[in-house]
Amino acid sequence: MSALNQKTIKMPVKFNGVGLHTGKEVSMTVLPSVPNTGIIFKRVDLKKNNIIVPSVFNVSNATLCTTISNEYSVSVSTIEHLMGSLYGLGIDNALIEINSQEVPILDGSAKNFVEKFLEVGFETSNVPIKIIKITNDVSIEEGQKSISISKSNINLEIDFEIKYSNSLIGNQKNKINIYENNLSEIYESRTFCLYEDVEKLKKMGLGKGGSLNNAIVVKDSKVLNEGGVRNKLEFVNHKILDCMGDLYLSGYKIIGSIKCSQGGHSLTNKLLRKVFNEKNNYSIFEIKEKTIPHTYISKSILKSIA
Ligand SMILES: [Zn+2]
Repeated sequence: MSALNQKTIKMPVKFNGVGLHTGKEVSMTVLPSVPNTGIIFKRVDLKKNNIIVPSVFNVSNATLCTTISNEYSVSVSTIEHLMGSLYGLGIDNALIEINSQEVPILDGSAKNFVEKFLEVGFETSNVPIKIIKITNDVSIEEGQKSISISKSNINLEIDFEIKYSNSLIGNQKNKINIYENNLSEIYESRTFCLYEDVEKLKKMGLGKGGSLNNAIVVKDSKVLNEGGVRNKLEFVNHKILDCMGDLYLSGYKIIGSIKCSQGGHSLTNKLLRKVFNEKNNYSIFEIKEKTIPHTYISKSILKSIA
């Protein structure tokens, strides 16, 4: 069985919880799926037109979380932490049955998703993985925010920085190699917000399911959650998790180097749209183990991609 072949999970995995923004109770089951089907969401509370594909071009809203919609305006939101866990673990194919419009927030991180997927284990197919390699630099700037993707040999690097005037969050920066590094601090990092923004969110009709059980709340120079932060770069690490999840909407394992300052869901989506709008920006290839030029690719790295 090759580590370069497409994977799914061995058994269905169930998650119950509330949606961060809707506050609704939701039940979600992630099921094994066959090669080349990718990740698919199915709204089982609806009888028809209920399939939603997490694709770059199906993102209908990316203001506070990532929402995808199909042509019938049926949507699923806050998919990014789940997508980040699937990407990080190299799960190529899965059917996600969900009975509401928002993925459960659980503890605000990807920790629960990752733990349960690892618990059931993976099934490897005999179909090779799909890779997209960035061949041109693409970037977007919006005021203080910027994001760019450039060529890389065989890795996906995410170099992220945030700059907050809040003294506790302040400036944080981290660079992660998604296929090589241990991602446990990325997976465990929770979504966060400023105390003064909680009321604003609620007024906008959002954050209804938010609590100290699923988000870090920062008030002045204090973390209100018992136990404080889980790791010292938790804020920027969570942004990297979001970025990973949003990048998986490309449908491929990306080989490229991301650099982002103060970005988020919307900027990542705009970057991917710009990449895919011009064919010279990328090349798609399927890895067939026998044809890998060994001078080009180190086998140990490929194992971690798969
Ligand atoms: Zn997030």
